[in-house]
Amino acid sequence: MWSCKLCENETVYVTHLCDKCRRVKHLLNLYGDRVYDVLESVLVRSESGQTHKIKTELKVEKEKINIGEEETAADNKDSILTRSKSKYTVE
Ligand SMILES: [Zn+2]
Repeated sequence: MWSCKLCENETVYVTHLCDKCRRVKHLLNLYGDRVYDVLESVLVRSESGQTHKIKTELKVEKEKINIGEEETAADNKDSILTRSKSKYTVE
């Protein structure tokens, strides 16, 4: 029995990480350095600032997706069969 190696708050028995920190580790495996970028760019501010930043970041992500979609549509302009009529949505 000892403390979680990451948060140092939770007690763990047979592992080094608690469930919440294991989830963080999983996200690090999936997204790599992007996790650090998001933590630094979104969480290092007041709570109201975080909400504003989250909305701003989501807006940027949506614009990137829309731009990518337009480029894809332009690439496929000669091929009607490969065109997608559905739009990506980001909640
Ligand atoms: Zn932990």
